[in-house]
Amino acid sequence: MVLEHRPVPAPADDELLVRVRACGVCRTDLHVAEGDLPVHRPGVVPGHEVVGEVVALGAAVTGFSLGERVGVAWLRGTCGECRYCLAGRENLCPYSVYTGWDEDGGYAEFATVPADFAYRLPEGYPDEKLAPLLCAGIIGYRALRRAELPDGGRLGIYGFGASGHLTAQVALAAGAHVSVFTRSPHARELALDLGVAWAGGAADRPPEPLDAAILFAPAGELVPPALEALDWGGVLVLAGIHLTDVPPLNYQRHLYGERTVRSVTANTRADGAEFLGLAARVPLRVRTTAYDLGAADHALADLAEDRVTGAAVLLSA
Ligand SMILES: [Zn+2]
Ligand SMILES: [Zn+2]
Repeated sequence: MVLEHRPVPAPADDELLVRVRACGVCRTDLHVAEGDLPVHRPGVVPGHEVVGEVVALGAAVTGFSLGERVGVAWLRGTCGECRYCLAGRENLCPYSVYTGWDEDGGYAEFATVPADFAYRLPEGYPDEKLAPLLCAGIIGYRALRRAELPDGGRLGIYGFGASGHLTAQVALAAGAHVSVFTRSPHARELALDLGVAWAGGAADRPPEPLDAAILFAPAGELVPPALEALDWGGVLVLAGIHLTDVPPLNYQRHLYGERTVRSVTANTRADGAEFLGLAARVPLRVRTTAYDLGAADHALADLAEDRVTGAAVLLSA
């Protein structure tokens, strides 16, 4: 990444201009920066967990006011007309566009967002703690819903970074029995501190079979052990936008007994609104490490090397 001066963007008629106060660093930014995802906009400004203040309104915007705190997230446009959009599955819209990939995002002092895709944010959280909710939190929430965990069920969480530590708290608040799998001793410590029942190594056997598991680590080699850890009838949810190759599976060991594998693809605005509503009712302990905006490269490198416990967040001066 390079640090450079660009003009303050002008909001289109349907957009808000936001002065960025905090922007979370998501693993997807790393995939964009490192070319794991195809380039959609050369020289794009990454960042899609933006918390900021509305400083200008496009001519056609209603319902927002200057000075209001808003969130800008990954999904920033859908066609509204395709069969997915019409069925309430806009996360699958083939014409969707994304913040920090198709359009400039929040590793900047200013960002724009279509008003229809801006989020109102819960009270009670400082900017730094809200930022990770906007992708890590929302995606984790969607993944948890797709896991279809029964009441009081046994959930495994593979990878315990920004998304994992938020999702664990949502599951715990709903009465789940949570096991955490991570190679990071700091993350295991955080997990136990948050109240999970068990925390072990990345591919360890859990003490009891799982009703559902969510894989947040971008490591395809964890799919077979995660499937083996499932009870019969269990569900494994793959929550990342990018996963390294999955090794060959053995039908008896990994799939038989009606075990299910499913992916998560982005989220709908309804997922976002539901999760942020939940965060307003259930106080989440958001573990963050703050960096100056100018140290974005450093934050990404720390994320790549597993040196961040919780979520990295860039703060504007
Ligand atoms: Zn569509
Ligand atoms: Zn993200």
